[in-house]
Amino acid sequence: MLDFEIAAEEIMARCEALGNISQQSTCLDRRYLTKEHKQANSLVSGWMTEAGMTTWQDAAGNQWGRYNASHANAPRLIIGSHLDTVPNGGKYDGMLGVIAPISLIAQFSRDQVQFPFHIDVVGFGDEEGTRFGSTLLGSFALTGEWKESWRDLTDEQGISLADALVSFGSSFENIESATLTPENILGYLEIHIEQGPILENENLPIGIVSAIAGAKRFNITVTGMAGHAGTVPMEMRHDALCAVSEMILAVETHASSARDVVATVGKIENAPNGVNVISGRTSFSLDIRSEQDDKRDKVLADILQAFDTIAEKRNIAIDIQQTHSADAVHCDTQLKSDMIDGVAQSGVSPRILPSGAGHDAMAMASICPVAMLFTRCKGGISHHPGESITVDDVRYTVEALHHSIINIGKRHTGESA
Ligand SMILES: [Zn+2]
Repeated sequence: MLDFEIAAEEIMARCEALGNISQQSTCLDRRYLTKEHKQANSLVSGWMTEAGMTTWQDAAGNQWGRYNASHANAPRLIIGSHLDTVPNGGKYDGMLGVIAPISLIAQFSRDQVQFPFHIDVVGFGDEEGTRFGSTLLGSFALTGEWKESWRDLTDEQGISLADALVSFGSSFENIESATLTPENILGYLEIHIEQGPILENENLPIGIVSAIAGAKRFNITVTGMAGHAGTVPMEMRHDALCAVSEMILAVETHASSARDVVATVGKIENAPNGVNVISGRTSFSLDIRSEQDDKRDKVLADILQAFDTIAEKRNIAIDIQQTHSADAVHCDTQLKSDMIDGVAQSGVSPRILPSGAGHDAMAMASICPVAMLFTRCKGGISHHPGESITVDDVRYTVEALHHSIINIGKRHTGESA
C-alpha cells in the first residue's frame, strides 16, 4: 500500500533540509555552479539512491536519478524542476518538484511497482538565472540550446560561466554531452508551487496547467524638456514624467479590459529627478503576458498606439526597444488529460489554469510533450522567504502525481499493445 501521508511528511522535511543550504547565512540563496549547488545535488542524490534509483550528474550540473523500467530499452518519462533559488528565496519554488517524485518513487520501490518506462527525476542546476543573468541554463543544456556566446557571461564577481563550469568539475566544451535525444522521451512532468492566488481563492489544493504564458518585454524612453519648476508655465511644458504617467495608466486600462492578458510597468527611471526640475527624460519597462500569443499581441498593439497618441499630444519623443520575446508554451493534450484524471482520482475537482511565470517545462517543450501540476501556496507568495505550503496539499500533490503516472503507463501499454 502506498502511503501518501508519509511521503508528504518526508517531502516537507526534505524541503526544510534543502532550504538550509545557502550561500548567505541570513537568507536562502543558492545559485548555479556554487559550492551550495554541489551540496544540494549531493543531498538529493542521496535521497534518490535511498529511493532505489541510480544517479548521475550531467555536464551542466543537473542532478539525475532513474527508477528503472522492467526492460532496459524502455522509453523515459522525465519528472523534475529546479534546485537553484533567487536571493532571499523560498524553500518550495523548484525544490518541491524535485523532491516530491523521489518520495513517491521510494514507495514504488518498496512495493516493487514497475512501469513500462524509466522514470527519470531531474533537479535542474539553473532555472532562475540569478548568477549569470540568463535563465533556464539547466534545461537548455538538455534541449541542446546553449549558445557559444554564453561562455563569457559573468557573475557579480566577474567569474565567467566557462570558468564556473570548470570549478564545478565540468567544462563548457562538454555541455553537449547533456543534450537528450528526443526519440525515447515520453514526456516531461513538472510539479511547482502556483506562485499566484487562484487555487487559494478557489479553495483547491492542486491544479493543472493549461499553458505557460508567452511574454514580451520592452524598455521605453520618453524625452521631453527639462526646465525650472517655478518659471516654466504649465502650458509650455514637455514633461516626460507626466507623459509616462498617462502611458502607465493606458497599460493598466488596456490590459484590464482584455481577458487573460496581464501587463506591468515595474521599473521606472526619471531624469534629472530633482524636486524643483521638470522631468526631461523618463524610462520605464513594460512586461506583457498571456497564454494566447495573438491576444497578447492585440493588446500590445493597442498599448503602443496609445503611447504614440500620448507622445504626439504632448509633443515629446518616444523610443521603444524590445528586450524579450517568448511565445506561450501549451501543455500536451494527452499528458494534460492524464493529469486531469489523476487530479480527479485523488478526490480533487480538476481546475485548469495558466502559468504566468516561466518554468523549466518551457524549455523542455521543444524536445518532448510537457504537463504541469500546481500546488497551492499561501497568498500566492513566491521568490520570498514567506513561501508556504501545507503537508495536506503536498499529500494531494503526490497522490495526483501517482495517478497521473499510472494513467500515462496505462495509455502507453495500450499504445504499444
Ligand atoms: Zn521555479
